[in-house]
Parts: sequence; structure tokens; C-alpha cells
Amino acid sequence: MQAKMHTQEGKLPNYIPLLAQANPNWLAVQIQTVTGQNYNAGDIHCTFPLMSVVKPFILLFLLQQLGAEIVFSHVGMKPSDLPFNSLTQLIADKGFPRNPTINSGAIALCSLLPGINAFSRCENLRLWLNQTAGCQLVLDNQMLDSVRSLPNDRNLAITRLLTKSGNIHSPETTLDAYNHVCCLAGTVADLARIGMLLVQAHDAIAPQNCRIVNAIMTTCGLYQASARFAVEVGLPTKSGVSGAILSIVPTQGAIACYSPGLDETGNSKASIFLIQQLAQNLNLSIFG
Ligand code: GLN
Repeated sequence: MQAKMHTQEGKLPNYIPLLAQANPNWLAVQIQTVTGQNYNAGDIHCTFPLMSVVKPFILLFLLQQLGAEIVFSHVGMKPSDLPFNSLTQLIADKGFPRNPTINSGAIALCSLLPGINAFSRCENLRLWLNQTAGCQLVLDNQMLDSVRSLPNDRNLAITRLLTKSGNIHSPETTLDAYNHVCCLAGTVADLARIGMLLVQAHDAIAPQNCRIVNAIMTTCGLYQASARFAVEVGLPTKSGVSGAILSIVPTQGAIACYSPGLDETGNSKASIFLIQQLAQNLNLSIFG
């Protein structure tokens, strides 16, 4: 109820026209636990694109496929206190992306995805996620058209810099693969299911890869808001510009939220509030 009030305070992003058409009143939450309990509330039938929430899963997939040494020769693991699409940061770092949760890092990782074109790179990730997590992510083609309908100068410039620094090859395919994976879409139930991959030991995921992704989500997942969130909430979390947010409660479960209105750092206002309340009331912080 209180979280619902916060849906009105956020702003819809305007650089992806379809996201600007979302209903700011939408609010959905899904909690899935390791003991098989599922709780949900709100607009749980809404389907939304994962946008940046997909980034930890590109990382997880590549860690599984290629190992940490190769992956971290293309992307760093340092937090950033600048916006997710910052060019200044990438220039200062000489074209080496800070971490996989910002655009530069995720675009660099999309260059490592297996596949002969953008669609097949995305499809390989989608099929792996659906198979491993038991969810039903789909590619939202309408959203992809919308993403491509306005030139995204930031992402173009980031891609150019990454090419110049020798960090990526086939820049057009790579940027298009990044746009594809951002448009993988599902419900909060799908989001909670992929979150479960990071919650506890899983046959298909090496424990050290799970640890790496959780650590990076904790330190970098909410961009400039990450450190504050770690103090106030203390859960590995990733947000996307669609208003999706995923929090991991290690060994216990996953919390997926969706509400399209964003705060000034690009994180869903009502979702952040809701996760904050849950974490505080249930004492969920990983820091005790
Ligand atoms: N596709 C979006 C972009 O590149 C994803 C960013 C986000 O969700 N923060 O701008």
C-alpha cells in the first residue's frame, strides 16, 4: 500500500518511446524461496523488458562458458559513481569498462556472446536462461524496434570507444546484440526464477561464479546508489530502466519487483522502497 504511493513519484524514461508509454501505477512483486514458497502481489501479469537486469546474467553465462580470466580481461570489477551510460568514465579508464553492470561493460561482454549475428547471440543467452532457470523469457520485438527507433548517441559513442581500445570486435553486431538482450522480457515470476540461479548451489552453475556475480551486484548493481543501498538494505541487487529490480537473498530466495517510475539514478522508485521495507522488516541484510 505504502509502496503504491511511491509509484507516482518516479519518472518514465523518454529515450525509449515504448517505455515512456508504461503505466506508472503498475507495481508487481514476486518472492520465491528455496523451500518452494512463492508469494506475489500486484500487477503480476505485466510483462516487461529486463533492460539492465539482464547484465548480471550475461556475466554469469560467460563466466560459465569462458571462465573468469577471459571475462575479466574484457571488463573490470570496480564500482562507478557515474550514470550507467557515462562516457566520461570510459574515457578516463582508457576504453576499459569499469564493470559489467554499466552499459560499457555489458556491451563489451556482448562481444563475447557466442552466435553469428545479434539475434543468435541473444537467443543463445535466452535459451540457456530458460533451460537453466525454468523460466519463459521471450524477445520483445516491439520493444527492440522502439529501442532502435531513436539514435542512442551514448551507446554508439561507448561502442566506438570500446572498438578503438581493441576491447570489442564487430561493433554493429555487438551493439545490436546488447539491444536484443536488453529486450528479453518476462513477468516478475520469470525474473524471480532467474534470480534463483544466484541464490544457492545449482548443478549448472559453479559456486565461484555465483559468488562473483553476487559481489558485483552488491557493489555496482544500482550504479551511483549501490553503496547507499548496501548500507540501508544489504542485498545483491540489479535494476533496469524498465523499472525492473531483482534482489538476491543468498541461501534463502529472490525478490523480483516491477514498477516503471524511476528515481534520478534510473532505479525504480516504488521497487526500491518495497525491497527496502522487506529487507528491514525481515532482517535480510547479508551484512547481518
Ligand atoms: N537498454 C538500456 C540502455 O542501454 C538499458 C539501460 C538500463 O536499463 N539502465 O540505455
